[in-house]
Order: sequence, then C-alpha cells, then structure tokens
Amino acid sequence: MGVDDVERGILERKRLTVRELQIDGDPGVGGILARQLERGLRKIDPGRDGAALREAHEISANPAADLEERLSPIAVEIHQPGKVTKLVEPVQVELVEELLRPRSMASHLEVMDPLVPVSLDSFQEGAQGAYYSIFVKRDIGALASREFDLVIVGAGVYGAAIAWDASLRGLTVALVERNDFGSGTSFNNLKTIHGGVRYLQHGDLKRIRESVRERRNLMRVAPHLVHPLPFLVPTYEGSLGRSRAALRLGLFVNDLLSWDRNRDARADKHLPPGRALSREECLKLAPDLDPSGLTGGALWYDAQMYNSDRLTLSFVLSAARQGAVAANFVQAEGFVRRGDRIQGIVAKDSLAGTRGLEIRGRMVVNASGPSVDRLLEKVGGGKRKPLFHSSKAMNLVTRPLVENVALGLTRGGPLLVIAPWRHVSLVGTLHLPYDGDPDAPDVLDTKEEDVQRLIDGVNRAYPKAELVRTDVRLVHRGLLPAVSNGRELTLVKSYKIDETLDGLLSVVGVKYTTARDVAEKTVDRVMARIGKPNVPSRSARTPLVGGDFESFADLVRSVETPHLAFNYGTLIREVLAISDPTPLSDTTPVSGAEVRYAVREEMALDLSSVVLRRTELGSAGHPGRTALERASAVMGEELRWSEEKKRSELEAVEEFYRARS
Ligand SMILES: Cc1cc2nc3c(=O)[nH]c(=O)nc-3n(C[C@H](O)[C@H](O)[C@H](O)COP(=O)(O)OP(=O)(O)OC[C@H]3O[C@@H](n4cnc5c(N)ncnc54)[C@H](O)[C@@H]3O)c2cc1C
Repeated sequence: MGVDDVERGILERKRLTVRELQIDGDPGVGGILARQLERGLRKIDPGRDGAALREAHEISANPAADLEERLSPIAVEIHQPGKVTKLVEPVQVELVEELLRPRSMASHLEVMDPLVPVSLDSFQEGAQGAYYSIFVKRDIGALASREFDLVIVGAGVYGAAIAWDASLRGLTVALVERNDFGSGTSFNNLKTIHGGVRYLQHGDLKRIRESVRERRNLMRVAPHLVHPLPFLVPTYEGSLGRSRAALRLGLFVNDLLSWDRNRDARADKHLPPGRALSREECLKLAPDLDPSGLTGGALWYDAQMYNSDRLTLSFVLSAARQGAVAANFVQAEGFVRRGDRIQGIVAKDSLAGTRGLEIRGRMVVNASGPSVDRLLEKVGGGKRKPLFHSSKAMNLVTRPLVENVALGLTRGGPLLVIAPWRHVSLVGTLHLPYDGDPDAPDVLDTKEEDVQRLIDGVNRAYPKAELVRTDVRLVHRGLLPAVSNGRELTLVKSYKIDETLDGLLSVVGVKYTTARDVAEKTVDRVMARIGKPNVPSRSARTPLVGGDFESFADLVRSVETPHLAFNYGTLIREVLAISDPTPLSDTTPVSGAEVRYAVREEMALDLSSVVLRRTELGSAGHPGRTALERASAVMGEELRWSEEKKRSELEAVEEFYRARS
C-alpha cells in the first residue's frame, strides 16, 4: 500500500491491519501516561505503567490475541489496546480492536496509550483484527512543524466549523484556542437552532432561507445533538400586530418559505407545519400560561441543541480526525509577516508558559469572536474601523418552568423565550449596550440588576412561574455584535468576512445556527486566495463525529443511560470501552468513564472543561459537591494531579458557579 492508500484508509476509518510489528516493553518505569513516541523506530511502546514485556518481540495478523498471549500475567486493565502513529505523516491513530479482543483481556491487561510508529509496509487493507480512529492530542510540536494551508485563531463554533469544513476539503489546518474549545460566546447560547421565523417581521427572506437550510443541515450532521422543539407564541387581547390573524398569516408565510425544511430528513427530524391554536389548545399545551385575556396562539417547530458544547467540540474533533492539528490554551499574540503579507501567527502556549511559538500558514483566519478587533490591533498599521460593536446578552438557566414546548412571550416587554432544556429551563435573552473592552476581566460578571430584570420579565409575562433569585442555576453572558444609537440597540443580523488584509480573513458571526454556512463561505474564499481548485464543501452532508447512525431510537435503546446517546452518538462505543461506569454521584448519570474519555480523547485539561463542556455534568447548574469531588479525583488519577492540584481545580469550578449563578 502507498502513503495515500493508508492515509485514505485511515481517514475513511476503514479496517486496516498492522502486520508484524515489534513490541518493545519497559516494565520497570512507573509513569502512567507514556505518550512519547519513539519516532523512527518500528516498535510498539505499550506504555510504561502497563508495559508487560521484558523483551522485544513481534505481533502479527491478530495483535489482540498476540498481546493477550504475551501480556496476560499482568493484572491490570486494558482500555486502549493500542495507538498507532504513521511515520510518514504525523497522523495518530487509535487501535481499538473492540470486536476481536477476547473478553478475558479486558480484565487482565492495561496498555495505556501505546503509540506505535509504523512503516507503510506494515499496513494491510481488508484484513480482520484492527479498527483505527484518529484521535486528538495536544501536540504543540506539530503546530510549529510545518506550514499549514490555514491557521485558525479561536475555537468557538465559528473557528471550529471553519476547521472542519477546510479539513474535509483537503486543506491542512491548525486551530488554536486561548482557553478551552467553545468556552467563549459559544458556551453561553440559548441552545436554539433558529429557522429564522423572527426575520419574518423584517421580510428578510435571505436570512430565513439561510436559517432553514442550516437548521436542516445541523439536524442531519449531528442528529444526536440537535432535535426538533415546538414553540408556542400565545396571543392576548389588545396585543396589536400579534393578533391571531396576523400570527396565522405569519405561520403560513413561514411554511411557504421553509417548504424544503424536511428534504432528506430522517423521520425523527421532521418538522410539522405551523398551526394556529385556540385558547383551549394553548392551555392544554402550556397549562401555566396566564389565562386572562388569552385568545389563542401560534405553534411552530424549530430545533434545540441538547448539548451545544459537545456540538462545538464535535466540529473540533471531526476536523482533528480529518488531520487538523488543534490545541487549546494556545493564544495568538501576533502575526508572522513578510512585508505586508501575513504568513502565520505568533502564539503563546499558556500551559507551558512559552511564548514566540510560530505557526505558519498560507492563510490565517481570525475567528476570535468578540476579540476580533483586539487581534487585528496586533497587525499594526494604524487604526481600523472596528468589525465588532459589542452588546451584552444574557440568559438564565432556571428550575423547570415549562415542559415539552418553548414559549415566546411578549407581554409588557421584548420577546422572552422560556424553553425546556434537559431537566431545567432556559430563559432569555436580555440585550444590553456595551462599548467597553471585550477582553476586560470583568466583562461577563453577573450584574444582579440584570438578572432581576429577566426574573421580573418572566413573572410579568408568565406569572405562575413565581420565579425568584434562588431558582436561577446559571447565568449565561456573552457579547454579540450590535449597533446602538444611544437609545435603541439593534443586533447585527448578518455575518461579516473581512478580506482587507493580505493573508488574513476575519470572520464575525451573529448566531450559532449559521456557523457552518459561514464556515463554508470562508473556506471558499481561503481556497481562492491560496490558489487551490475550489473543491466543493461537504460539511452540510458529512456527519460530524458521533453522528453516523441510522436510528437514534436504536442508539438510545442500546445504552443503559440515554444521556450517553444524546451526548456522544456513536462515540458511546469508545466511552463504554473505558471501564468506569459508575455515576459520579446519585444526582447525575455522568460516569467516571466520561471523565476519563474527556481526558484521554478530547483534550480536557482542566476540571472546568470536563464539568462544563465535555460532559453534561455542570452545564445546567452546579452538579453537587460529591460529583465535583469525584470528577476531580478521576481526573487526578488520569493526569497524576497532586492533592493540592485537585483542590485548586475544584476551587476554580466553585468560583465559576459563585460568579455565574
Ligand atoms: C446569551 C446569548 C444567547 C445566544 N443564543 C443563541 C441561540 O439560541 N441560537 C443561536 O444560533 N445563537 C445564539 N447566540 C449567538 C451565538 O452564541 C454566537 O453567535 C456564537 O457562539 C459566536 O461564536 P464565535 O465562534 O464567533 O465566538 P466565540 O464563541 O466567542 O469564539 C471565539 C473564540 O476565540 C477565542 N480567542 C479570542 N482571542 C483569541 C486569541 N488571541 N488566541 C486564541 N483564541 C482566541 C476565544 O477564547 C473564544 O473561544 C447567543 C449568544 C449569547 C451571548
């Protein structure tokens, strides 16, 4: 097989077998995570802790059986039988062997992350015995090792989606994020994938069509993470412009404009047409609606993300499995320049504390969200017109207020959405002017008067909620692009791709829903700029990692706790291969295996990332001290944290909840 065949096989996740590899054990050394590669050697290093072999020897067509034979005396547990690195390209591959590994091995061996440099002639296509999946590791060396086609700054949903779209089209991609993936604005959204019904009042057909398309695309590529959700807007006597007749007309036009909303959709993603409801039907659907003056309502269907953080992460993971090099806690601090042309970024590795890391790229995309102009300042060359005029936006995560249907309420104020989400409710969004520094340390601090404004708004529009401050479990805050004339704030409705600099594009998105679409358009421009033939985008149709299944109902049925199917899709197989199924506490289904998986396979480096984004443990509010302590202990085992480190990680998470709830 040639390089291309092997690479294609790996990328397409084909079955490939490694033949006749030498294993070189090192049983005496105690470090658990021996991840170093012995590059250049045709050897397997089965990991220092789990290493069982006293001498080099061979494994052949069925490595699992061979390993069992060689390693069975060692009483440790196997959860990752092997990892393979192809020498020719720094593509790292995980060898799962789940089907053929004898059961007995699962309880007898531990081979922690053996990284296996192999030569091409070791691969054999079509044979039984090994299944490879590319995994994500934070590899700073790989970032600095070559010139990429594209370097992306910022892994919110926009940067992540650009990385995925570009990798799928064959570009070499580096993606860096100064904090954790998806921890900026993208963490703070209301979880709605809007079909654009709100653009009806402005007659903005282009936005409506864009949103309908992207809602359909996201449900297609991440069917485990994005699900239909009905929305009800009740009408009350005297609500001008929102009479039943007006809403009925709105629904009709919306259905016309979204005529293809179910094209190619699987059955569980079908969105029925909108419907005008009588007063009685409204009360049946939402019994806690204020009945006085209620005349009826409008019902339509949109979509909601079960876990937006895992959706953002899925773009990163998918890009990485396609060959992109992604790293969190790497901050762009400047640019590599030749004359006026930008040829990469100069970055800081915040974990190692090292500066001056040059990541070279034929194009750079600045997807740093609200910080887009701050990064552009590093280009120099005088003052520029800002791309991002900030406003603040806020949601609340509260105790459950509604069931099965989201409400859009407009009584006595701007539109307020109350949506059911997992076992809580989401309430929002409050928009406020802000023209300060987007990177100011206190920019997202919770202001009590703002929280109270939202609580008052809920109680005015939905009195039976009787919402009080202690019902608030989490406050989402973020910056959105908006223009203000001093009295009124108008949210910017359209994305921007700024192309004024040589070698650098800057992208400003306006909503989560359309990130993939903007990514596609951005990559079109990148391809043109670097003179590549424009391979058409495939990200609208290619399932994200975990999204490659036929029936979600079957997937849910295949697991004991449904939350696994909702969060991981088909990745549940990989999570379940880790034997630590016990929930972290009796108030959550999230298990130790999920924490371990986040560390091993999803580049989770601190406790907050695991609690707030990799798992669903804490994104709906504080999960309880027991669960946090257990998560910290499990992470500590994985990463060899000292007692003091575990305490400081716990404290950082507690501090997050103090500031945000
Ligand atoms: C309260 C609220 C509710 C919302 N609700 C919805 C909704 O229901 N539906 C919807 O579609 N949209 C919603 N949105 C909008 C949506 O969340 C945003 O449009 C989207 O998340 C923006 O993503 P982004 O990638 O551009 O920005 P971000 O998510 O902010 O990502 C930018 C990233 O760049 C990183 N970064 C910055 N500077 C650097 C640097 N120098 N080096 C490295 N990395 C850097 C940041 O750390 C950050 O992670 C909502 C927004 C808010 C605030």
